[in-house]
Amino acid sequence: MADNPTTLYVNGTWRASADGATFDVLNPATGEVLAQVASATPADGMAALDAADNAAREWAETPARERAHYLWRAFDAVTARAEEFARCMTLEMGKPLDQARAEVTYGAEFLRWFAEEAAHVHGECYHTPEGALQVMTLKRPVGPCLFITPWNFPLAMATRKIAPALAAGCTCVLKPSEDTPLTALLFAQVLDEVGLPAGVVNVVPTADTPPMTGPMIADPRLRKISFTGSTAVGRALLKEAAENVLRTSMELGGLAPFIVFDDADLDAAVDAAVATKMRNMGEACNASSRFYVHNSVREEFTTRVSEALGAMRVGDGMSDGTEVGPIVSAKQRDHVVDLVNRSVAAGGRLVCGGHPCEGPGFFYPPTVVADLAPDNPLLHEEVFGPVAPICGFDTEEEALALANATEFGLAGYVHTRDVARIMRLAQRLEVGMIGVNSATISNAAAPFGGVKASGLGREGGLDGIEEFLETIYVGMPR
Ligand code: NAD
Repeated sequence: MADNPTTLYVNGTWRASADGATFDVLNPATGEVLAQVASATPADGMAALDAADNAAREWAETPARERAHYLWRAFDAVTARAEEFARCMTLEMGKPLDQARAEVTYGAEFLRWFAEEAAHVHGECYHTPEGALQVMTLKRPVGPCLFITPWNFPLAMATRKIAPALAAGCTCVLKPSEDTPLTALLFAQVLDEVGLPAGVVNVVPTADTPPMTGPMIADPRLRKISFTGSTAVGRALLKEAAENVLRTSMELGGLAPFIVFDDADLDAAVDAAVATKMRNMGEACNASSRFYVHNSVREEFTTRVSEALGAMRVGDGMSDGTEVGPIVSAKQRDHVVDLVNRSVAAGGRLVCGGHPCEGPGFFYPPTVVADLAPDNPLLHEEVFGPVAPICGFDTEEEALALANATEFGLAGYVHTRDVARIMRLAQRLEVGMIGVNSATISNAAAPFGGVKASGLGREGGLDGIEEFLETIYVGMPR
């Protein structure tokens, strides 16, 4: 930690903020200050945009294979320093060390995937059907981008944006979460060490985001915002982006349904329920958030999931054997406490957990709430914590209606052996991603993203690089 950079990274140089201000980064397992990080001012934000804009043309004209080489080198460097990244994430965010190591693998994979994709960007040439015109399409980078990322996956949320942007030929400014800026700065150090040209990536943490990002978003040189975070902030940014008609990618909140049918392999469903609920202490946008279980197996499922969750080891993510780390901050822990209390007041029955742990640190135990009415707040608000509400259903139509009864539409999980049913649900579940009999859907090679209030655009997969490209059409007589 002592060697982790803590200053701004602007135009290839490390420096304090314009007014010298810093903010504290806490270890959520102890509540102690881990580091003091430079807090970018509006002037620092504009300096970062100046740098990204100045570097934009040369970077766009750099051959794709050369751009890819920087990504390959960054992949190698992050992989070589995996343990350092993992420890940094556990210390500033709280996730158990083995999960932090898994995030390093996942986050680095975007660097490799988009290094491979960079060389495959191309347009098309064809004739119009009536034969009068020759159509040529070119792909151009959209231009300087602003990236705003959350705290839950401090490395992967940054690489999922930066890697496709660089592959497409875009430069950028990254504003990481104020809870987890250290991982982003460590990644900036990697990019610096692999020789990325100055200004291509700039990293500006701040304790006060809107005054810093507002002027950047209003500046016509900025051409794109890619945001990952809550739907409320996404909505506000979409309004700001409307003024200059910016390209936007929005990876927002989720409330994933997890549907277990009566023909499901119950052992596999219980394992997947625990994994999709408890990964990252439930602080994942694609975490299972509402369990809908066929009434014929609901009781058994509830008992088995409660036993598994109740037996999980809660503790400091740095300690061996910890399965559930602290919640990222006191504020987020208080949100979990409040939502569970409101859920119980509205008639939810606590099966396990439900009361915050003693400090120090911001711990909350794995919790199961059953017997919820359809309007229970836990079924409509994102808890972003280790809390599993379990409800019953009788028919496929009923399960679908319950699953779709939310403004969110990020991920959904289905457990059934019936292939025809899987295909019906794939058509009608209002989500961007569906995991079938599976505990994992995130992969750099797959398009991650949501529908409805869960966002716009896709990250990863073959779609990911398109978010950073404009299609330019050139028409000529045949
Ligand atoms: P958040 O919206 O509070 O903050 C996200 C980022 O936005 C942070 O960097 C924050 O500093 C910044 N921010 C806050 N207010 C802002 C404003 N007015 N203008 C500009 N930037 C602002 O979210 P969070 O608590 O950091 O993360 C949790 C949320 O992120 C959850 O809702 C979760 O579902 C979502 N999330 C979504 C995905 C996805 O891929 N869909 C992935 C991870 C997290």
